[in-house]
Amino acid sequence: MKLKIAIQKSGRLHDDSIKLLKECGIDINNGVNKLKTEASNFPLEVFFLRDDDIPQYIEDGVADIGIVGENVVLEKKKQVNIVEKLGFGKCRLSMAVPKSFEYTTVKDLENTRIATSYPLIVQEFLQRNGIRAEIHEISGSVEIAPGIGLADAICDLVSSGSTLFMNGLKEVETVLKSEAVLAACHNLQPEQQVLLDKLVFRIQAVKRAKNTKYILLNAPNEKLNEIIGLLPGMKSPTVLPLAQEGWSSVHSVLNENDFWDIIENLKAAGAQGILVVPIEKMVI
Ligand code: ATP
Ligand code: ZN
Repeated sequence: MKLKIAIQKSGRLHDDSIKLLKECGIDINNGVNKLKTEASNFPLEVFFLRDDDIPQYIEDGVADIGIVGENVVLEKKKQVNIVEKLGFGKCRLSMAVPKSFEYTTVKDLENTRIATSYPLIVQEFLQRNGIRAEIHEISGSVEIAPGIGLADAICDLVSSGSTLFMNGLKEVETVLKSEAVLAACHNLQPEQQVLLDKLVFRIQAVKRAKNTKYILLNAPNEKLNEIIGLLPGMKSPTVLPLAQEGWSSVHSVLNENDFWDIIENLKAAGAQGILVVPIEKMVI
């Protein structure tokens, strides 16, 4: 029994999807122009598809699971489960209007023409806000629609906002925040579910490790309690005596977000020789 996974053939999610599988210890040879391939060390078959088609393939059971933007899952309205957020492909679906448009509230979208590749999500957003507007579905280059007179506003994916800026547009509403997700078919065979659980277990270990650093430092014994008090750690930190009398080595793990604050406090408390190293996998 194999698990069939669909990933984007080329585009923004392709490289990170392959990288994630590699980090999960799954070797796939990713030949150019291949439609599918197999992992050599995990019962996984990989299909390379356009991202828009992935939810449909999963619903139909052609693929069992897939990596795709949450934005695409929500727009396509297919019967799939979102199993895990993957932490890459982060973007937002936003309303944008020409810089000269005097925009104060969402009500200013009333009676406008909005160009988008996400008609269903936009329709829901307008309904939620009680706004009537005309939706023009276009499949690409949405940002040029106001410039060529096709629309008054657009709703498109944004990450930095530079594309909007270059096209004389300003972002006025966030409709949805999105990132790549692992989606799965509703009716997996029990054996496939076991394989999916195995994969998710590995993905979680990789994700956890990305947000965490391993820290080693030397501390004078009389400062140990204070220093240990500053460290969160998974359980309690490891403390080992150093060859030099009166000193210990302390090992622990830190959350990336707290990193700089904690390092400063540790130094101030008398820690020396602080080493911070990346963690590859983390299983709790
Ligand atoms: P395909 O050929 O597979 O249909 P595409 O052109 O529709 O590709 P991409 O532009 O590669 O798709 O985007 C794939 C996904 O990457 C998007 O659906 C979204 O989830 C995510 N993404 C992240 N940042 C951005 C961004 N700035 N613009 C567009 N998509 C982004
Ligand atoms: Zn697409």
